[in-house]
Amino acid sequence: MSATALASPFAGLTPSVIGTDAPVPLDDGRQVPYANFDYAASAPCLEAVREAISEALPYYSSVHRGAGYASQVTTAAYEKARETVRGFLGARRRSSVVFTRNTTDAMNLLAHCVPSGTTVVVFETEHHATLLPWRRAVRLPAPSSPTEAVAAAGRALAESPAGPRLLVVTAASNVTGEVWPLAELAAVARAHGARIAVDAAQLVPHRRLDMTALGLDYVAFSGHKLYAPFGAGVLAGRSDWLRAAGPYLKGGGATSSVDEHGDRAHWHADPEARHEAGTPNVLGVLALAAACETLTATGWTPLVEHEERLLARLRSGLAGIPGVRELTLWGDRSPRVGIVSFVVRGWEARDLALALSGRFGIGVRDGKFCAHPFVRHLLDASVSEGCEDGRNSAVRASFGIGTTEAHVDRLIDAVASLARAR
Ligand code: PLP
Repeated sequence: MSATALASPFAGLTPSVIGTDAPVPLDDGRQVPYANFDYAASAPCLEAVREAISEALPYYSSVHRGAGYASQVTTAAYEKARETVRGFLGARRRSSVVFTRNTTDAMNLLAHCVPSGTTVVVFETEHHATLLPWRRAVRLPAPSSPTEAVAAAGRALAESPAGPRLLVVTAASNVTGEVWPLAELAAVARAHGARIAVDAAQLVPHRRLDMTALGLDYVAFSGHKLYAPFGAGVLAGRSDWLRAAGPYLKGGGATSSVDEHGDRAHWHADPEARHEAGTPNVLGVLALAAACETLTATGWTPLVEHEERLLARLRSGLAGIPGVRELTLWGDRSPRVGIVSFVVRGWEARDLALALSGRFGIGVRDGKFCAHPFVRHLLDASVSEGCEDGRNSAVRASFGIGTTEAHVDRLIDAVASLARAR
């Protein structure tokens, strides 16, 4: 069946993505429609985002300091984008919404602002962006269930020395797609006088996240995983730590005044100005906000139903192929977003990914997905269950808007044919 035979439920409506089924060359020179299963790395751009950027370009200008009409229009759009993101995340009116380059930048900004002496509790299952930035961290091993995750976080927080405490967790794993129990983790953090910061890079493209309802103190995410182009991300959350810390970057925009020799600067108290020194990525921010608006306007129910249908089809298709093993931490004990990592007996992940591309026109990712401790943990479990070829790395198929049943079937057929060949 061709990739275009079954249309996306969103085709012709908002949201549709750019590049679905674009022709790509195979190793033998033939061309086939591209089947993109690498959304978790960077999702394709929404058509509505392209339109928003086209509308903004005639008034392309720098924000905040210009008096010209274009600068005023662009500044208004930039600040409106902040409010859009606030609504998208369900953040409180008093919270800060700081634009960053991406999730990595947002987590490093938060690490910069955490008061000295803060104990940070983080699971080893995190993406490196969320695992590595902390000065003083207690690292918890992969929990055996969502319930155990909450219990382990509670124990670690209870044993933490007096002083500020911060629990840092992922919302949805970039390796397994498993969704973590955010409300329960927020409650256990609160019970121990701790704050909670959430890496939502892989959740917000797939599910509604409401910071206020869930009781989250900080949320970070990236525009390029949310169907917008690269280069803009967000740290949203409580203002006090952000206001008390020195500027993340020192330079123009972060200062309200500088003395005559440049020895002393007065840093803005407002966290957004304080931590957004330099000319910001205005178009990236407008694109990110346009993506937030488009997903909200579409409504989450059709997006979630579409994705759950594809996820069930992909998982059961892969499960039926001898020699294929899916990597999961909790099996079916947690909800999942559209991410499936797996190993195939007899195949190194890199070779399998290259074969899927060169022979079938299917784009996946291979490796340890910037989550080395977690993937190592999952692969060790996989080896002990008798799938020795999982030793080094895995293949990850991830999807979303723009993915169809036909794409999923192509992936399953291709993996089955490659698995048979070994
Ligand atoms: N956190 C998670 C869960 C991710 O999947 C990623 C990217 O893959 C990141 C953080 C880092 O995102 P970025 O590279 O946009 O900073």
